[in-house]
Amino acid sequence: MDERPRVLVVDDNRMNLQLLHNILSQRYQVSVAINGEQALKRAETLRPGLILLDIKMEGMDGYEVCRRLGEQETTQHIPVIFVTAKDQQEDERKGLELGAVDYITKPFHPAIVEVRVRNHLELKRQRDTLARLSRIDGLTGIANRRQFDDVLMEEWNHASRTGGCIGLILLDIDHFKPFNDHYGHVAGDDALKVVARVLSDTLPRTTDLVARYGGEEFVCVLPGTDLAGVLTVARKIQEAVVERGIPHAASSTHANLTVSLGVASAQPKPEERDPEKLISLADEALYKAKASGRNQVSV
Ligand SMILES: [Mg+2]
Repeated sequence: MDERPRVLVVDDNRMNLQLLHNILSQRYQVSVAINGEQALKRAETLRPGLILLDIKMEGMDGYEVCRRLGEQETTQHIPVIFVTAKDQQEDERKGLELGAVDYITKPFHPAIVEVRVRNHLELKRQRDTLARLSRIDGLTGIANRRQFDDVLMEEWNHASRTGGCIGLILLDIDHFKPFNDHYGHVAGDDALKVVARVLSDTLPRTTDLVARYGGEEFVCVLPGTDLAGVLTVARKIQEAVVERGIPHAASSTHANLTVSLGVASAQPKPEERDPEKLISLADEALYKAKASGRNQVSV
């Protein structure tokens, strides 16, 4: 498969298209569009890393294309470079105000086109990486608290609109401090990674979310899952962790590392604006599981 970044070139002049294609096709996958409508369609389906956009076109002009790209969630993060004739400074101002990242003036200077495209693709790559990393827990590679908060809120609103339910599992590694004291922090980090792996393996649905809640606490969001369903999954997790057979000599509960789990499920009502209640229900259940001897699931 061609892994090179894709650039979409939009121009109603075939000679310009051909020129830009020649300049860019050495390094990039180049797709072309000859009018605004086609540009919007191709941006949506191809998701290019960058768009070179002519301003003056028959029908929908470049400004309008840029505006519409910005309105669509799927295309609003694609950087746009406007392509315009050198004497149209007012156009340049207007385009930048619309959110274009840069300008290329006609007639093209191939080396300049190349460098600008390369720079903006690199910036886009860095932005994407940062956006991804800011939502991932560095140690375990699963979602972090921030992503959990976002996803739970999204799913809560969705369930509120559709009348569906949401299941939540909150879990905590038992006697984790004694584990760290006994085996050291490297082993403690490894244990966190194993538990994260167990969670990901036990919840393979792409709609489920597994996240590190903080410290040795994890949380799972199960959209469309009622209490019985959540309970079944939680029990599987509890057993799977014990079965991993991580020795825990400092535990008063079991010879192996174990987890305690609290589960809850709710059908959000329209007047309940946020999922705070669901979290506190799962939290209370987790507390009960701890108080009742750990290595178990509570509702
Ligand atoms: Mg034109």
